[in-house]
Amino acid sequence: MPAPACSRSTVPCVIATTALLLCGCGPASDGQGAADANTGPAPTAAGCPGAFYPEWTSSPYVLPYPVGAAYTVDLSHCSGSYHSAGQPDAYAIDFDMDIGSVITAARAGLVVYVEESGIDYDFPNNLVVVRHADETFAQYMHLTTGGALVDIGQQVEQGDQIGRSGATGLAGYPHLHFVVTQGGWRYPYESTPTTFSNTQPNERSLASGYRYRAEPY
Ligand SMILES: [Zn+2]
Repeated sequence: MPAPACSRSTVPCVIATTALLLCGCGPASDGQGAADANTGPAPTAAGCPGAFYPEWTSSPYVLPYPVGAAYTVDLSHCSGSYHSAGQPDAYAIDFDMDIGSVITAARAGLVVYVEESGIDYDFPNNLVVVRHADETFAQYMHLTTGGALVDIGQQVEQGDQIGRSGATGLAGYPHLHFVVTQGGWRYPYESTPTTFSNTQPNERSLASGYRYRAEPY
């Protein structure tokens, strides 16, 4: 496949057709996971209007990457494109990640679905789906080719390595699309608000454009 015009973007994606998600080529953000996070405090995100957000300090979720890594959030909750209010992915978060970056389990659970046959910048969309004890599902999408590090039926603990990021499916550029759903995991699903306990304050989840470092937990 031809390389995309740019590999990363902080510009929100737009829907060009019903079948294609295009992302603008904005100023390149630093996709390196090991560098420092922002120095200033995280801005307070707006989140989705009217949504109830679980207290972030006691959230059952941690950032879906290793402690010490830091990544910039592109689209977050109700921030446009497929992540708009009323869409199945209203509560999804895109993390700007270079292909091959390690993804870890945000919460413990059982792996119920794995797809890793997709080719970067092509289909299908590679993903790992983990079912939690409360019957919600964490979905980790756009993984690279062969990018699943777990198998269906495997129990994973919070922080376990579960995959490597990529640009498969409707990705447009390399990133992790993270979403928690309830009532099922197949599209069109119902996503649910998530906060994260091991990073900067995020009362209404993560803010677009800010780089969040995963702190020890
Ligand atoms: Zn997304």
